[in-house]
Amino acid sequence: MTEVERDTIRRKIVQEIERLKPEIERLKEITKPVAPDDAIGRISRMDNIVNNSVNKAALGKAVSRLAGLEYALAQCGNPDFGTCIECGAAIPTARLLAMPESAMCVACAE
Ligand SMILES: [Zn+2]
Repeated sequence: MTEVERDTIRRKIVQEIERLKPEIERLKEITKPVAPDDAIGRISRMDNIVNNSVNKAALGKAVSRLAGLEYALAQCGNPDFGTCIECGAAIPTARLLAMPESAMCVACAE
């Protein structure tokens, strides 16, 4: 990996983190439990429960992605960064740009 590539990936990670943080805040806000005495009616309540589980799943995904990205950011100055932890092959830059948190090459991840 060249220094330019490393730099591009680092910028991409920072960009993704900046995008995820407000998204996580938004999801946290909308997944807050609705008080049972809220007069939203039974149908809306059912709707709310369904939406809530979808949003909670999205929140969980976003939180674990953020952790992966923060880890990648901490690691990307490392000489080993971009090397598959499974087989030691270089992970293609295109893959690292799409998923900077990936620690394995495509073959090993499958
Ligand atoms: Zn591999």
